[in-house]
Amino acid sequence: MAARVDLDGKPIKPLTICMIGAGGFIGSHLCEKLMAETPHKVLALDVYSDKIKHLLEPAGAHPWSDRIQFHRLNIKNDSRLEGLIKMSDLTINLAAICTPADYNTRPLDTIYSNFIDALPVVKYCSENNKRLIHFSTCEVYGKTIGSFLPKDSPLRKEPEYFVLKEDESPCIFGPIEKQRWSYACAKQLIERLIYAEGAENGLEFTIVRPFNWIGPRMDFIPGIDGPSEGVPRVLACFSNNLLRHEPLKLVDGGVSQRTFVYIKDAIEAVMLMIENPARANGHIFNVGNPNNEVTVRQLAEMMTDVYSKVSGEPSLEEPTVDVSSQEFYGAGYDDSDKRIPDMTIINKQLGWDPKTSLWDLLESTLTYQHRTYAEAMKQAIAKPAAN
Ligand code: NAD
Repeated sequence: MAARVDLDGKPIKPLTICMIGAGGFIGSHLCEKLMAETPHKVLALDVYSDKIKHLLEPAGAHPWSDRIQFHRLNIKNDSRLEGLIKMSDLTINLAAICTPADYNTRPLDTIYSNFIDALPVVKYCSENNKRLIHFSTCEVYGKTIGSFLPKDSPLRKEPEYFVLKEDESPCIFGPIEKQRWSYACAKQLIERLIYAEGAENGLEFTIVRPFNWIGPRMDFIPGIDGPSEGVPRVLACFSNNLLRHEPLKLVDGGVSQRTFVYIKDAIEAVMLMIENPARANGHIFNVGNPNNEVTVRQLAEMMTDVYSKVSGEPSLEEPTVDVSSQEFYGAGYDDSDKRIPDMTIINKQLGWDPKTSLWDLLESTLTYQHRTYAEAMKQAIAKPAAN
């Protein structure tokens, strides 16, 4: 492997990385990249390993086999955690409950997972002088200022009323009975705690706020590789509807606006953070693609077109159906109206810009979904319900 240098031309030393939640969507892509393109070692911690099985098995068979070790553990109650953090140069914490369907239906688990369970990780990093990259969320911004203006106000079009800036924008959540905000609020408090550890105890930290990263291996398809009654995030929900040839369910008209970034672009940003600590430490970074904005309804329409192209199957005449959030998510649901990340800080510190268009990222993702699930779905549908 050619000598690797950082953004300032200095050689990059091989690192040992303790990656918590390495078996999830983002973790699996990050492990893949670290194994294929760097000399770094990964101690991969998770309760599941299915999504990184291809990197771990067969044992000893890959060029990277001696650089990745899986530790099956739950950070809620495992005394090995501190030792693994101590053995590493850097800890990356991805572990969380992070599916919107859980925020209002399992608010206690959501708060414990995103705040209480992350506390020992922050404490061990701080006490042992270890660097921490912590995954937060764009949901910490909550609603935009513009959403409180009258519907016809021309100010709604002014960027200062909706563009989300790490160091300026407020965090605007709904009332406590809207339990949807339990996730955002827990993430906000852990961000504040990490920031305070940096300010008072010198913790070297970077906080990542992902804005709808999507791609292969995100979540699960209900009834195929996850519970039939489970409700994954929007990409997997819509993929499930497409695979079943049923209309895509649009919650409350699908009017919310989102920006989607391809997982592979986003992973490049994380790599820059890992390998450029002097530029990343002490910062909070938005990581998203402001050019890929659509309403959820437009996303559904685009996914329908892309899926028809990649599968060769005609789309339904009525490709979407409206459902209320009460019916789909239950009581206590609420939503952010619009999420445009400001890219100034990440661009200045790390020179990162997203590249992949929404159409292209949906094409590669839905090609993966079709190849991975279409056959299994056919068989599941053909089986009598009693099986
Ligand atoms: P994911 O659910 O696919 O991965 C999380 C992983 O953490 C899972 O494999 C899970 O088993 C593991 N985990 C959870 N609790 C654990 C525990 N107690 N002990 C051990 N392992 C545990 O989610 P993801 O999309 O990869 O997200 C990773 C992080 O990024 C999360 O903190 C999430 O809040 C944040 N995030 C992601 C997005 C996105 O667009 N994907 C957006 C906003 C925030």
